[in-house]
Amino acid sequence: MKSRVFYVIAAALVVTAGCSSTPSESDDSEMSPVSCVSTTVIDGPVNIATTVAPITSIIANIAGGTDATINGIVPEGTNSHTFEPKPSDAATLEQADVIFINGLVLEEPTKELALANLKDGAVICELGSQILPESEYIYDFSFPREGGKPNPHLWTNPPMAKEYAAVARDLLSALNPNNAAIFAANYEAFAAKVDALDAAMTTATATIPQDQRKLLTYHDAYAYFAVHYGYTVIGAIQPSSFDEPTPKEIANLITQVRESGVTAVFGSEVFPSPVMEQIGAETGVRYVDVLRDDDLIGEPGDADHSWLGLMRFNYVTMVEALGGDASALKTLDVSDVVKDSATYPQ
Ligand SMILES: [Zn+2]
Repeated sequence: MKSRVFYVIAAALVVTAGCSSTPSESDDSEMSPVSCVSTTVIDGPVNIATTVAPITSIIANIAGGTDATINGIVPEGTNSHTFEPKPSDAATLEQADVIFINGLVLEEPTKELALANLKDGAVICELGSQILPESEYIYDFSFPREGGKPNPHLWTNPPMAKEYAAVARDLLSALNPNNAAIFAANYEAFAAKVDALDAAMTTATATIPQDQRKLLTYHDAYAYFAVHYGYTVIGAIQPSSFDEPTPKEIANLITQVRESGVTAVFGSEVFPSPVMEQIGAETGVRYVDVLRDDDLIGEPGDADHSWLGLMRFNYVTMVEALGGDASALKTLDVSDVVKDSATYPQ
C-alpha cells in the first residue's frame, strides 16, 4: 500500500487558481490536511471518500472511468445536518487518499472522525468552503448567524455545483496525474450538462409569473439557488434545532403565506412535516412535499440516481407547482457522463 505513495513538492505540481481554503496559521513545515491541494502523488487506484449523495454523484462524474473507488458516508434519506458517523465509518475514512466534504460546517462529526483517522498524505477537501468566501455565506431562519452554521446547500445551485466539480478535477489531477486526461474530459462533459440544466432552469423560471417566484420551504435548501434564479425565499419553516416550529411561529407563517399570495409551499421528502400540512390546509395553498436536497432519485444504478437527476426533479416540481412550464427541463439528458461506480449507503 505504502509503496504506491510518494511525496513530491506540492507547490511545483499544483496549479490551481484560488486554491487555499486554509490560509494556514501553521509554519510551512506542517501543512493542514484540510485542503483542496494534494501533496501526494498516487500511481495506482485512488481511494475517495465523500459525505452526502449529491457530492458523491458529482465526484463519481469526475472520477468515473478510472480505477478509483468512491465511498459515500452519509446514507441517503438521513438528515445530513445532524448525521453522526458510525465507528465503522472510520475504516472507510482511514483508507481514503482524499475525502470530499461539503464544508460550511455541515459535516463536523464526520470531519472530526476523518481527521482522527486520516492516513499520511491524505487530505480533506471542503468543496463549499473552497469555492465560496465566508463573506458570501448566507445565514437565515434555519441557519442563523449566532448558531455558527451557515446555510450549506450550495449544491442545489448549478453554477456552484460546477465549481465543486472543477475543484475535484484539479485536486484529483494533482493526486493522480496518470488519469488527468480522464478527469479533464469528464469535467468538460459534466460542465456541459450542468450548463444545459442551468439554461433550462432559467428558461423555465421565466414562464412562472413574476409574483409567484417565491419559495416557502420546510427544509431551507434553496438559499443560493434563489439568489441565482431570482426567487424570493419568503420563509423556511424548519428551526435550526430541527424540531418542529412553535405554535406562534406557525401562526406567523400562516399569515405570511396568506399575504404572499403563493400558490404552493414546499416540504421535503426527508423531513415529513405535519406542520406544513397544517399550513397548507389552513391557507388553501397546495403543499408539495417531495423536494429532496440530498437523497437522490430511485436506487443506485437507476438512470436518474444522480445529482443531475435530483436537481431536475426538484426544479420540475417547483416550476410546475408555481404555475410555470417545465418542458425545457423535461427534455434534458440528465444521465451521468460516465458510469457511476460509487457506493451509496442506504
Ligand atoms: Zn439539507
